[in-house]
Amino acid sequence: MAQDFAFKWFATYFDDFEHSKDELGELDRKLGDGDFAVNLASALKLCKEALGDLPPDSTAAGVFSAVSGGFLHTGGTSGPLLGMWFREIAKACASHEEDLVSALSTGVRAGTSAVQRLGGAEAGDKTMVDAMLAAVDTFEQFSSQGADLSTVLEAVAKSAEKGAESTADMHANLGRASYVGDISVGLPDPGAKAIALFFNSGLKAVN
Ligand code: ADP
Ligand code: MG
Repeated sequence: MAQDFAFKWFATYFDDFEHSKDELGELDRKLGDGDFAVNLASALKLCKEALGDLPPDSTAAGVFSAVSGGFLHTGGTSGPLLGMWFREIAKACASHEEDLVSALSTGVRAGTSAVQRLGGAEAGDKTMVDAMLAAVDTFEQFSSQGADLSTVLEAVAKSAEKGAESTADMHANLGRASYVGDISVGLPDPGAKAIALFFNSGLKAVN
């Protein structure tokens, strides 16, 4: 069932984040202002509470919508951007209730466009958008082939990780990482790494 999977995906992400938060925090300390892991931890705490308040038979749209609310109530640049990203995924789940692969494919595309509209990031600016765009391409390629959720998430987790790692070679053009100049080259963007981690948690939850 889509909603059981959605709950499990976030439960897995909460755990995976605990194991990665020091690394994500360290990256933002070196590239930005150091608060990314703290911002993400605050958002995920709100998400956990909101998911705890949902009835167990909530739809996948309800799960993503609760998560969106958690992010939208969190500070930093990442909070509102990820809140909009999850809001678009929730909307797509509501209109593709019976097909989670199509819902995610449509929602991740719409969400990434919303993040780009709001934050102005293009591919190659060394932000979370680089991992998101890699995921969008893979979702669209695999969902048009009629692949099942586990196959799609395996490919998406891989490409999002590749997209995140590709940010290591980039110069930051936006956000606080742009102030540190050449120091930003050599390390991957923490927001992009957090997106890759999210899809990897999805892959773990589906298997
Ligand atoms: P802040 O930059 O306000 O301290 P956070 O630390 O919460 O924000 O988040 C930092 C992450 O947000 C970065 O790693 C990057 O992925 C993402 N980010 C920053 N600015 C933008 C933007 N304009 N568009 C998309 N993502 C961005
Ligand atoms: Mg920061």
